[in-house]
Amino acid sequence: MFDLTPIDKNNRLQRDYFFMNLAVMYRTRGTCPRLKVGCILTSMHRLVAAGYNSSPPNQPHCEDVGCLLKNNHCIRCPHAEIAAISNLEHRYNDLTAYVTAQPCYFCLRALFMAGTKDIYYIKSFIDLDRDELARSFNIPMIQMPWPYKDCKDLIPFDSEAYRSKDNGIRTVKRETPVI
Ligand SMILES: [Zn+2]
Ligand SMILES: [Zn+2]
Repeated sequence: MFDLTPIDKNNRLQRDYFFMNLAVMYRTRGTCPRLKVGCILTSMHRLVAAGYNSSPPNQPHCEDVGCLLKNNHCIRCPHAEIAAISNLEHRYNDLTAYVTAQPCYFCLRALFMAGTKDIYYIKSFIDLDRDELARSFNIPMIQMPWPYKDCKDLIPFDSEAYRSKDNGIRTVKRETPVI
């Protein structure tokens, strides 16, 4: 059982929610209007890299020139997970990834290559190949309850502000890992 209650017993923002809040903040810098995603990588509960989906350096942004669509996917922007991995300064074998949207097949594989042991996400996407790969890699993917639509807003850092909202996720326990 994972306890995914956002506020811990000491009235602090619980660690997984703290890091996911950062991922939600990072996603706001994304430049593809179809989907903005943020990714935080931690090792031993410390932030080691972060990224969001945006055009490669010196390339035009989707917001300015439109998306580059193939099979109904925009292929211009490296995904947030790839951006975060490329920001790693060292090798790790115990990473936890916090991603605002469930990784795609390619990013799951890249996260595994980078030493990721588990993945937290908010918004789910159906991808049976990705799920099969996650099972074969034995990487748990854990969906975090998030009280705001499309992960657009942060969980309040102030526990009083949090408790004053009737968002229905004060205590969330679920069977995990969910693969
Ligand atoms: Zn785009
Ligand atoms: Zn991806």
